[in-house]
Amino acid sequence: MTTVLWLQGGACSGNTMSFLNANKPTVVDLITDFGLDVLWHPSLSVEMGKDTQQILADCASGARPLDVFVFEGSVIQGPDGSGRFDMFAERPMKDWVTDLTSVASIVVAIGSCATWGGLVAAEPNPTDSTGLQYHRGTPGGYLGSDWRSASGLPVINIPGCPAHPDWITQILVALGTGRVKDITLDELGRPRTFFTSFTHSGCSRNSFYEYKQDTEFFGEGTRTGCMFYELGCKGPLAHSSCNRILWNRQSSKTRAGMPCLGCTEPAFPFDDLAPGTVFTTQMIAGAVPRDMPPDQDHLTYLAMAGAAKVAAPQWAKDDMFVV
Ligand code: SF4
Ligand code: SF4
Repeated sequence: MTTVLWLQGGACSGNTMSFLNANKPTVVDLITDFGLDVLWHPSLSVEMGKDTQQILADCASGARPLDVFVFEGSVIQGPDGSGRFDMFAERPMKDWVTDLTSVASIVVAIGSCATWGGLVAAEPNPTDSTGLQYHRGTPGGYLGSDWRSASGLPVINIPGCPAHPDWITQILVALGTGRVKDITLDELGRPRTFFTSFTHSGCSRNSFYEYKQDTEFFGEGTRTGCMFYELGCKGPLAHSSCNRILWNRQSSKTRAGMPCLGCTEPAFPFDDLAPGTVFTTQMIAGAVPRDMPPDQDHLTYLAMAGAAKVAAPQWAKDDMFVV
């Protein structure tokens, strides 16, 4: 059995909700078929109060071996470094994080808040929130960039707002079945299997992107057009498998007519949610999107965009989803 302890810091519980929606495997499958022994989880466990405190204390002292410590939400350090904005089991949550990360064999950060700080760490960051091993993309965070778990690994980062259920369960399956060596991480500690391609890879609007055909409208009724040019879609910049491993095996944001917000990236939320920056493509000189896909510069973009728009065939402007 692989023991798992899951705690929540500065979080909306969205990643827990995503986890509970997993269906292949389900959370029950993880416990019955894949050997996970969930010591405590805020939405699954029946222990409360002193009983919960005892479980945490036993793990921290080593009386109960802890294989996997999962953390969801930001580490709240305020006010003044005390962590008292987030008390749990009669201690600042950050102190539990310190103790439990020092004994766990493997530490997994679930969601953008635990990985990078996420929404709660956006400026002005009144709770002094940060991620476990990064702060908005800068190495360090709460544990520091040199920190390693008892098994010698950095924090395994599974970002997303929330993370896709399969990203969570498949990593837990690998850990529960002793296949941690199969998990290769990118330079930000993300499992490569989910975070090498982009949201853009597999988006049903790709032909509109190539021919620079935009849309100014949200929603399912607007299946024509790409949302990169007007609506701020971060699909070509965001490392995610959202259009390869569909949500609910059905769809994705961009397929449903909603721009990708780039929630798997350390810069999320981009522009710290300043007015006029959400769902709006930030432009340079009113002509070129400010945020370019990796390895593309503004000049090349400008030249290619002009040519593609002129060359666009009629079918690239039509709704091809005929029923
Ligand atoms: S809507 Fe977004 S993800 Fe889809 S093709 Fe356009 S830029 Fe790419
Ligand atoms: S489509 Fe974009 S914003 Fe939505 S979950 Fe995927 S990476 Fe995050």
